[in-house]
Amino acid sequence: MIYLDHQATTPLAPEARAAMERWLGGPGSDTFGNPHSPHRVGRQADAAVELARERVAALFPAGGRVIFTGSATEALNLALRGNSAARAGQLTAISAIEHAAVHETAHDLPGPAHILPVDAAGLLDPEVPLPAKLGVLSVMQVNNEIGTIQPAARLYERARAAGALFVCDAVQAAGKLPIAPADMIAVSAHKFHGPKGIGALWVRDGVELAPLITGGGQEGGLRSGTLSPALCAGMGVAAELALTRMDEDGAHMDRLFARALELFAGWTLNGSPDQRYRGNLNLRREGVDVARLMSTARTVCFSAGSACASDSGKPSRVLAAIGLSPAQAKTSIRLGLGRYTTEAELEEAAALLSAAVAEQEPT
Ligand code: PLP
Repeated sequence: MIYLDHQATTPLAPEARAAMERWLGGPGSDTFGNPHSPHRVGRQADAAVELARERVAALFPAGGRVIFTGSATEALNLALRGNSAARAGQLTAISAIEHAAVHETAHDLPGPAHILPVDAAGLLDPEVPLPAKLGVLSVMQVNNEIGTIQPAARLYERARAAGALFVCDAVQAAGKLPIAPADMIAVSAHKFHGPKGIGALWVRDGVELAPLITGGGQEGGLRSGTLSPALCAGMGVAAELALTRMDEDGAHMDRLFARALELFAGWTLNGSPDQRYRGNLNLRREGVDVARLMSTARTVCFSAGSACASDSGKPSRVLAAIGLSPAQAKTSIRLGLGRYTTEAELEEAAALLSAAVAEQEPT
């Protein structure tokens, strides 16, 4: 099996697994505590959670706090639904290529949603006109389908100048690129070799939020519910590892991306070749039946469009936004490279995929 779907999820780093195992705490151990209990076992679990929080906080700019959530989807919901501008029914602007966690949520807010277009390369113009009476601007840093890197730092400045809050979905950027400044930033552990079931929202000091989940008042009252020390510890170690390895992992991605462009020379790259996270290759090839390709080359795990949208059977909103016809979008695949992907695996996958394509093409 060759796994090339790292935008969907990533394998757990062995270092993160080791950190988690300690906090799984069976009978007789003292590592099963509720981090919110005041006794010794609880305080020990709390110390593990707070160490993890510090490690996750290192991903972000200074001057804010980390709220642990169950996923980045939950973190984005908290950011978009919990802020006072959105609750007062002010306008929310988002890019045309946001993940469903932002797109669907923005459309479900009391106020109107405004969509900012992207160009054919999948990039938002940093000077795009912003609507009047803007309450919140939410733009992702790296797109999950086509890997394009958005001008988030400039958009943050512009949102501030307009008196609006800026939310950044940094799920595909965290641990791979330095995170851009924003008022609120969402990340997900399982996208950077941490465990599934935990994400975080970073909130700049001074930004007021109302909780979506009420109860015991954990996470400073913003997200009630008992935290899992094991998940927190895994996320913390995965974040620390990703930061330590950022240059090394980035150089590995550059090498794999360059090799992939040679191996997939018969395909067209969707999205900007330059303003892009190089662990993402979204490729199209006229006439290819992607469902058949997946079943012929079934030892290669890759995605047709976005992994999140692929169950819905709907054509990709992102590929439509960059101007691809439904036919072009249907012939697109996404290959996601990761830290543990080897060049040999990439070459083998390319050989399997070209053999599968050759089967489809008339001789
Ligand atoms: N935002 C982006 C860009 C994503 O790629 C994803 C997951 O695919 C999410 C948000 C949602 O993350 P989670 O799986 O933690 O809910």
